[in-house]
Amino acid sequence: MLVYKFGGASVKSADGIRNMLKIVSSVEDNLFIVVSAMGKTTNALEVVLENFMKAEQEAALEKLTEIETYHKEIIAELFKDKSVGETAVEPFFTKLKTILSESVGNDYDRCYDQIVSYGEVISTAIISAVFKEKGIVNKWLDMRELLVTDSNFREANVNFLEAEKRLKSAVDFSQHKVYIGQGFIGTNMKGLPTTLGREGSDYTAAVVGNLLDADSVTIWKDVPGILNGDPRIFQNTIHIPELSYLDAVELAHSGAQVIHPKTIKPLENKQIPLYVRPFGSPTEAGSVIHQTAKPITVPILILKRNLVLLTLRPLDFSFVLEESLTWIFTVIEKYRLKVSLIQSSAISISICVDNSRYLQRAMDELSNDYKVSYNTDLEMLTIRGINKEIKQQSIQNREVLVQQVTRRSGRFIMRALEK
Ligand code: ASP
Ligand code: MG
Repeated sequence: MLVYKFGGASVKSADGIRNMLKIVSSVEDNLFIVVSAMGKTTNALEVVLENFMKAEQEAALEKLTEIETYHKEIIAELFKDKSVGETAVEPFFTKLKTILSESVGNDYDRCYDQIVSYGEVISTAIISAVFKEKGIVNKWLDMRELLVTDSNFREANVNFLEAEKRLKSAVDFSQHKVYIGQGFIGTNMKGLPTTLGREGSDYTAAVVGNLLDADSVTIWKDVPGILNGDPRIFQNTIHIPELSYLDAVELAHSGAQVIHPKTIKPLENKQIPLYVRPFGSPTEAGSVIHQTAKPITVPILILKRNLVLLTLRPLDFSFVLEESLTWIFTVIEKYRLKVSLIQSSAISISICVDNSRYLQRAMDELSNDYKVSYNTDLEMLTIRGINKEIKQQSIQNREVLVQQVTRRSGRFIMRALEK
């Protein structure tokens, strides 16, 4: 069986969904389709949530109406009989309205998962219904019942054992050749909805591939495949036809947005190839990530934005590496900071992290034992396959705060350019 994942950009319009239909109808294998929320729906639901948390009921409902209108416009364009599409999403919008009008949020992360997860629920309901209308028999699955995770709301970790049991009992390819499920969302053991972290649908596809022993997983994207740099940032990018799991995971962790960093592990563990293919031209091969890829010969450039460099010095002048590391990383884990780079001296340590919701609280806690200083608005440039010229070209005229260069790669923390 195959796993296909379609992201928000691919299903943002009726045209996109028609293209998806075309791609899917040419598949002969059994297929599990993972879909994200349509377009920018997740961002829009985050706004609904903000209003809900502040007890701004009217604003929340107004924003929800915009989201509903957007989906209904797509439905009207897509279905022969639009009432079929409307009926498919109706219960979910009704439920959301009830949540928003009957209560006020208290636990941010938990409410986030309860509300924001509807983006994927609604998109898959529409897609499953339109597939049926066009003759592609399929079974819609609710991953809020199947993809079991822990209760780390907004960044939940998959419970592979439980998820495998539930998924395998829900999926039977002798009954249906095509299953459609949501990316990004799951359930804790108590049945409360969870989410896997922004852009987490790729990860869902990989987990499903792992649990159902897929022959391959394909992520359909609005890019020609994997390139040696983000074409929105770098010029003259080159297509990389194949990549090893190791290079792919380094690339993704450095901030290459083409795949979510957690995607590689479940696939590597079962040696399942991952294809990244162009949604706009489905006959092209795109790129493949697998074990046996030849080493990359072109330098790869990755720019990660919106980083903060924390510098910590123990107030009691103790050695940071010997005496403080465990505590520092306990705090980092507690506030779920994402670390990109670490550099230390005798009594100080610099840690470059993503700017995030709980950063200030982490800094407050660290301030009990450390002098904490920080720089915001930073970028990290990673160059894999570094050489003198490329380094020179890439960082000239830039203020570099920290750099780490090894034989193969370099990382440069720089102040962001004025926009
Ligand atoms: N819809 C979610 C997001 O936008 C998950 C995803 O697209 O992968 O973050
Ligand atoms: Mg998305």
